[in-house]
Amino acid sequence: MEYITRELAQNKHIALVAHDHMKESLLDWAEVRLDILKNHKLYATGTTGTMLSQKLKLPIESLLSGPMGGDQQLGAKIAEGKIDILIFLWDPMNAAPHDPDVKALLRLAAVWNIPVATNLATADFILDSYHLDKVYHARIPDYKGYLARRT
Ligand code: PGA
Repeated sequence: MEYITRELAQNKHIALVAHDHMKESLLDWAEVRLDILKNHKLYATGTTGTMLSQKLKLPIESLLSGPMGGDQQLGAKIAEGKIDILIFLWDPMNAAPHDPDVKALLRLAAVWNIPVATNLATADFILDSYHLDKVYHARIPDYKGYLARRT
């Protein structure tokens, strides 16, 4: 596979997801980091998004609930280049019925080279990153080039 770059604008598209036992932690963290989060476009799975928008009073594009397809919707947006950062507090202590969707979401985040936090320490590191409010060129697979070479 060859690679090209995708330009991430200064204003990032950040997806927020938390499994049920992790929601309180994400909500508390998001409130503390509100000054940074409010400068970016926020997406979330259904329940996480509803709870976040009530607490933060910020516009959040909420998708379906995770177990109903929201993780897959986020994965599709990552593949389409519409999500720049994923903050995903999956629950390491409890099995989830939609574990295959969770795995697929994390896989697509790896394929499309977007920063991923699966815990709050990493989420803090991402929000405090030099790159957060600057244009960044991420290396991504050159799928169009791959198709062109096959014709
Ligand atoms: P939820 O989905 O925000 O709708 O709870 C999160 C998940 O379980 O993936």
